[in-house]
Amino acid sequence: MSAQKKHYDFIIAGAGAAGLSLLMRLMAAGIHQHTSILLIDKAPKQHNDRTWCFWEAGTGLFEPLVHNRWNQIEFMAPGFSKTYAINPYQYKMIHGIDFYNYCFEAIKKETAITVIYDAVTAINTLHNGATVTTANAVFTANYVFSSIVFNSPSLKTPNEHYLLQHFKGWTIETTVPCFDSNKASFMDFRVSQQHGTTFVYTMPFANNKALIEYTLFTKQLLPPEAYNAALHTYIQAHFTKDYTIKEQEFGIIPMTNYKFKPYNGNVIYIGTIGGQTKGSSGYTFQFIQKRTAAIAAAIIQTGKPFTNKALTAKRFQFYDSVLLHLLAHNKLEGVTIFTKLFQKNDATAIFKFLDNETSFAEDLLLISSLPFLPFSKAAIKQLF
Ligand SMILES: Cc1cc2nc3c(=O)[nH]c(=O)nc-3n(C[C@H](O)[C@H](O)[C@H](O)COP(=O)(O)OP(=O)(O)OC[C@H]3O[C@@H](n4cnc5c(N)ncnc54)[C@H](O)[C@@H]3O)c2cc1C
Repeated sequence: MSAQKKHYDFIIAGAGAAGLSLLMRLMAAGIHQHTSILLIDKAPKQHNDRTWCFWEAGTGLFEPLVHNRWNQIEFMAPGFSKTYAINPYQYKMIHGIDFYNYCFEAIKKETAITVIYDAVTAINTLHNGATVTTANAVFTANYVFSSIVFNSPSLKTPNEHYLLQHFKGWTIETTVPCFDSNKASFMDFRVSQQHGTTFVYTMPFANNKALIEYTLFTKQLLPPEAYNAALHTYIQAHFTKDYTIKEQEFGIIPMTNYKFKPYNGNVIYIGTIGGQTKGSSGYTFQFIQKRTAAIAAAIIQTGKPFTNKALTAKRFQFYDSVLLHLLAHNKLEGVTIFTKLFQKNDATAIFKFLDNETSFAEDLLLISSLPFLPFSKAAIKQLF
């Protein structure tokens, strides 16, 4: 890594999923060989602070890091359960710490990339660039890529919604075999819905080891002990009383139809702050991959990091808004919506839809499986 200077071609502010994905893609394209790059984060990554799950057809840039993969998923709800083969997709899992270590191993071999650890306090646009102010210095760059969230979005209209996807995950080991490691339980709604949309993911690694995540889509968090109690009740009811907790994870993901700006002058927003979290599902990792790949491609083609078409088509933002409207106003329970969706469609069609990759005709097929009246009313409310 080179000595620190004050001006760079690119500054990447935030070395999390988006910042590191972008940098790995710039490196894969050789852009770093003729571009000075500064990567800033407030602190080095030393812990497994999150686990990413996502579905993918084929292999991605981070394929060597996939810790587990499943070719089947299961959906469960009161009165309905089904296992789906998801070919051409696989449901994959990457541990955050593996991702950080892998990226930093690659980055430290590159002399054109400088890494500093310092808290960023402000990012401002300049006429032909931008400044990044940290606790200890001010840097300038031609372009700044930021994934740092300084403030929560301020909602201005009744049609903007902001729910929280909050979850507690335990990796447990059981004394007796309890799990089918060939399939991941994508959503299990056989839990109380008293707080709002609530379900459990189970990702088994072996017949006696799994990550189990108690997940809610609501406006408020629960008291910390409520997640533990719910996980314990669920594991006892569906698996065993005899288990040990090996690891724990807690997370909050915004679920909103707030329209995040893709850029401001020469500051390009990436990751959650760049709008890559899908409003209706919270899935982000693959949207980050698409956005950072598009930025790297734009730099190669035009010399500038601006992508000329919105990756999330307006149509999909509208669908997300309708779902958020129903959930935020308690017009229809999440369990009803997801059960109908999985009863009448293949998981592969649902994944394609949630990836914003279906055609309009495919959208109509999926949408026609949902309760007509509440969805139509919510759609009208969101339109006007
Ligand atoms: C626990 C958890 C589990 C998740 N699981 C999934 C999942 O399974 N699938 C999925 O698709 N999505 C998941 N997500 C959502 C999403 O993929 C992640 O939040 C993802 O990390 C977002 O990437 P990002 O780059 O926007 O933010 P981050 O990865 O959080 O990166 C932001 C970086 O900015 C740094 N930073 C923040 N403030 C400052 C500052 N002032 N100065 C300098 N640096 C700063 C942080 O240290 C961090 O490294 C999960 C989120 C969480 C929290």
